[in-house]
Formats: sequence, C-alpha cells, structure tokens
Amino acid sequence: MRIVIVGNGMAGARLVSELRSRDRESRVTVFGAEAWQPYNRVLLSSVLAGAAEPGDIRLTDREWYAENDVEARLGAEVTGVDRERRVVTSAGGGVTPYDALVLATGSAPLVPPLPGLDAQGIVAFRTIEDCQEILRHAAAARSAVVVGGGSLGLEAARGLAGRGLKVTVVHLAGHLMERQLDSEAAGVLQRTIGGLGVGTLVGARLTAAHAEQGHVTGVELDDGTVLGADLVVLACGVRPETRLARSAGLTVDRGVVVDDRLRSIDDPSVYAIGECAQHQGTVYGLVAPAWEQARVVADLLTGSDARYRGSQQVTRLKAAGIELAAMGETGLGDDEAEVLRFADPTRGTYKKVVIRDDRLVGAILIGETGTAGLLTQLYDRAAPLPSDRLALLFHGLHPAAPVKRPPRMPDTAIVCECNNVSKGRIRACWEAGARDVSEVAVGTTATTGCGGCRDTVEDILHWLGGRDTGFARPGE
Ligand SMILES: Cc1cc2nc3c(=O)[nH]c(=O)nc-3n(C[C@H](O)[C@H](O)[C@H](O)COP(=O)(O)OP(=O)(O)OC[C@H]3O[C@@H](n4cnc5c(N)ncnc54)[C@H](O)[C@@H]3O)c2cc1C
Repeated sequence: MRIVIVGNGMAGARLVSELRSRDRESRVTVFGAEAWQPYNRVLLSSVLAGAAEPGDIRLTDREWYAENDVEARLGAEVTGVDRERRVVTSAGGGVTPYDALVLATGSAPLVPPLPGLDAQGIVAFRTIEDCQEILRHAAAARSAVVVGGGSLGLEAARGLAGRGLKVTVVHLAGHLMERQLDSEAAGVLQRTIGGLGVGTLVGARLTAAHAEQGHVTGVELDDGTVLGADLVVLACGVRPETRLARSAGLTVDRGVVVDDRLRSIDDPSVYAIGECAQHQGTVYGLVAPAWEQARVVADLLTGSDARYRGSQQVTRLKAAGIELAAMGETGLGDDEAEVLRFADPTRGTYKKVVIRDDRLVGAILIGETGTAGLLTQLYDRAAPLPSDRLALLFHGLHPAAPVKRPPRMPDTAIVCECNNVSKGRIRACWEAGARDVSEVAVGTTATTGCGGCRDTVEDILHWLGGRDTGFARPGE
C-alpha cells in the first residue's frame, strides 16, 4: 500500500503518526509546502504572546521520520494530481505514485482585495513564518491594527498588547466573535479586552492601507477614519485550500466533498481531512475534528472499518486575562429553547446556556469558565441535563462537575477535547507509570492540542498521587 499525504500541518502530521502507530508495512510519503517540521499551529498565538518559543511547539523531529520509515518531503509543494495514473507531481517535477492519496491541505488566509495591502508590515497570520514576521515588525512597532475580531484576531491583539503595542481591532461584523457569541456576550468581551489595552471598532470596514517608503503607516476605514499603525495583522478569515482538488477534477463546494469514510465522492482512492474537507455540509476550522478525521482515515487505511460522524465545535480563547468558552448554538434560541443567562458586566462575567428537549445545544462562558468542562461533556454527548439548572452556570453544584474534582469525574469524561482523551485513559497512563503532564502527553496525547486541559490533567495527577488532600485515591 503506497499512501501519499499532501499537507504536513495539524491533520497531515497527525495522520502520519496515527498510521505508524498501527502499521509499519505501508509506504508513507508526506509532502509539506512549509519547510518546517510539523508544528502545533494552534500554539502560534502563544508564540506571538511570548508564552512559548517556536521550538516548543514542534510536533515531530526529523529523526522520527527516519526511525519510522516515513518519507517526508518538507518544503515540497504538490502541484498536480493525475487520478488516472494515480500519481502526484511536486514542484520540481518529481512524480510519486499512490494507491491512496490523502489531501490535508488546510486553509489559506483571506486577504481582502484592497489597495495598499502589499506594504511591508502587513502580515496575514497563519504560519510560523507569518508569526516570526509579525514578531520582527512588532519589535520596532509602537502601534498595531488587527483586522478581524474573531478568536484568531483577538488572540493576536492580546499578544501584541502584552508586548507593549497600542492595539486596535477592526471588525466588520456588528460584534466581536459573532459566530460564537451573542451581542451581549460580545459587549462583555469588548470591555474585558479593552481593559487589557486592546481597543475595538466593530461594524468597521477596511478600505485601504497607507504606506510610506513601502512600509505601512496606517489603515483607512469606510467612514474616512485613518488609524495610524506600524504593523497590521490580517486575521479576517480563511478559505479551504482546494486548488489541487479542483484541478484534479474532484467535487469541491467550500471544501473537498467527502463521504462518511472521508473519501472524495468522486474517487474512493482520494481522501480529504482537516480544514480542506467538507463533510455533510460542514467545513471545520478547529483541530479536534481534524485529528478525529486523521484517526478515522488511519483506521481505514490499515484495514479497520471506521466512519466519521461529525464533531461538536467548542471554542476557547487563548488570551492572557480572558476566560472564554463557547459551543454550539448561542443565538437567542427559538420558542422551543430554554435559555438561562447570568450577567455581571462590571466583573466581566457572562454565562448563557441554551437548552432544547432537555439537551444542551449551546453555551457561552466569559470571565468565569468553571463549568466549561461539564458543559462540554453534556454538549458532546447530548446527555440529559441536571434538573437543577444552576449547576450548569455555577461551578461545583453538579455532582459530576469535572474541573478540579477528579474523584467525581466518571472515567468516560473527556478531559482533552482536542485529542478526545478521557479521564480513564489518563488514569490508565498513570497506572502504567506516568507521573507528570509531559509523560501523560506522551502516553495519551492529552494537553498536546490547545493546552486548555493542562490544569485538569495536573489535578487528576495530583489526585491519583494522593497529593490533593481534599480527596481520596482510587480504591480508598
Ligand atoms: C494562530 C492560530 C491559532 C489557532 N487556535 C486554535 C485553537 O485554539 N483551537 C483550535 O481547535 N484550532 C485553532 N486554530 C485552527 C487550527 O490550527 C486548524 O484547524 C488546524 O491547523 C487545521 O489543520 P489542517 O491540517 O487542516 O491545516 P493546516 O494546519 O493549515 O495544514 C495544512 C498544511 O498543508 C500544506 N499544504 C497546502 N497545500 C499544499 C500542497 N499543494 N502541497 C504540500 N503541502 C501543502 C500547508 O502549507 C500547511 O502546512 C488556530 C489556527 C491559527 C492559525
């Protein structure tokens, strides 16, 4: 079996390791247009904020490929797919045959077609090279504009404000993070981030960038306002990278259209995973679905049957000083929906849950996210809700409240959402000898995605080790 993977980002790199953890017989070749060893793209926000170094976020090293008999072509873009001959062509003209081809080409940042956006100091934020370029400019800059008030833009803005820059976020929609938040929540977020030194302009359209001697000096908005800036970060959305699939004659809507086995609907030897894939009308923009899809395709390519059933989407903001988790349907809800809300704007707290047919269908937590783990579990599993609804909003009131209460978590409780790692697997890993977070990460992959579960894993380890004096150890 000759398996060729195009794209060595979060989905492609995970597929390579999932394949090798199941089978060493197939021939695996992975092409990555980026010259870097695969890295955790999610943690680029931490690099921008100064909380991590580029070297800290590497996912594999070169030796791993040799040790695991994987041919990694880094810095090699695939330029064509010939489905009749079953070969891919890479830049430079090399031809590689395949029996199974997996497209994991991710997304490309959207750059609005506006005058002046080619000036120095204007950078779209997607890759490690973008991140380094932003940091290079930030070192000499005093002010920055971030275009886009979604989670990526806000994380970038917070990171740059933490480095001492005067930062303004310009956002086209009427409120921040409009896909995840309702307007009241966005107002609370706007005040919180404002208190951390990030100004925000919502409902504002960028019309041009101004430059002197080729370097950006500011941006212009549709009402004529000019904002001075030595650095402009574009975080105004992405589009799935589907050029290769289109040119190969595969059906592409927003992403490459795939079935439940993640195969193109036109060709069962071509799979698509991650942000370039469209499954049941959905193109995911998060790492957890990409990694789940990699697992399914690894099963299928190594002889097990598997299906992808879709993923729930949970967003957490990784910005120092802002606690935010949001999932599902967070609009006001229809007549059938039960909506619970708690707001304390002066303290920057906002909580909302949306319930339909006694199931959680959406939630927002800002400022105090103690029930995020519980809500995520209830949402993921569409589990029946406690009759005491307050337990959904206030931490500690639900008997299965997971965070910081390891003894009360069932073994099936998912601790690491990105990698779908349960408390039971962490416990098994501890029983096999793992004693700290990095050992658990090696044994289970928990904490290796967005890192948001790190504290919970630490709590579980403390409890298992009997160091958490509040609780008994298993069996006691
Ligand atoms: C700064 C930042 C923060 C984020 N934070 C979060 C978060 O907190 N939580 C979360 O869930 N998600 C987050 N995301 C999104 C997450 O990173 C993506 O969902 C994930 O990377 C998707 O994986 P992917 O493999 O589909 O795409 P990518 O990781 O983009 O990988 C695609 C790779 O394919 C390569 N490629 C494309 N075309 C070709 C070709 N023709 N030949 C060879 N190689 C090619 C690209 O160069 C790229 O390396 C964040 C993204 C960014 C940029």
